[in-house]
Amino acid sequence: MAETEGKPAKKIKHEDKEEEEEIQTFEELGLDARSVRALLKKGITKPTLIQQVAIPLILEGKDVVARAKTGSGKTFAYLLPLLQKLFATDSGSKSKLAPSAFILVPSRELCQQVYSEVLSLIELCRVQLKKTALSGPPDVLVSTPACIQSCLSGGLIQTKSISDSLDILVLDEADLLLSYGYEDDLKALTRYVPRRCQCLLISDVDKLKKLILHNPVILTLPEVGD
Ligand code: ADP
Ligand code: MG
Repeated sequence: MAETEGKPAKKIKHEDKEEEEEIQTFEELGLDARSVRALLKKGITKPTLIQQVAIPLILEGKDVVARAKTGSGKTFAYLLPLLQKLFATDSGSKSKLAPSAFILVPSRELCQQVYSEVLSLIELCRVQLKKTALSGPPDVLVSTPACIQSCLSGGLIQTKSISDSLDILVLDEADLLLSYGYEDDLKALTRYVPRRCQCLLISDVDKLKKLILHNPVILTLPEVGD
């Protein structure tokens, strides 16, 4: 299931088969040859529904709230456009500080998973990103909000470097981030997030459902079925 608040023309409509079939490849969603090659090496050739909807909107620079069930491919839905934006800036103007993206997740386990995907995609794309040490703003930081908060209070990350260089903020499993008690850490961090920063909220309907609902009645609109 996918819900977006982008332009209606960008929605995948199940009743409109022609429009659904028009978007079939990652190239058509706007991904560049490097990303497409990296996906091919992973044996991935066809975007999932959430990827079809989210990738063009994220490339356009929109803030996006993406809700879809577990296993629907949400990680690549945000990671591919995010990395493409960083690759593009690599060869571009050096007039501003290096761009950076923060990906916040609710657990160390998910942190490891997303970090491995980032490394693997970068390697497959054969792109040299700037650095991994925290001597300045990193290109991509995958963390729990609490860990970023302790880096901030310990001076490992400067708040000024966040306000100067943060271009993309992703909250993966956003609902869980809040339900795990990270609200205060998130509020503290968002004070430094600049207005121009693109923000993506990714949420997992299944996990939240299991966490708080008991034998729920599930209502699904016919046109946004899975
Ligand atoms: P979610 O975050 O929605 O639960 P993931 O992003 O973890 O799902 O993806 C679940 C699995 O699907 C992963 O193993 C991933 O490599 C795979 N996957 C992602 N996109 C595609 C695709 N377009 N085609 C085939 N497999 C995919
Ligand atoms: Mg996920």
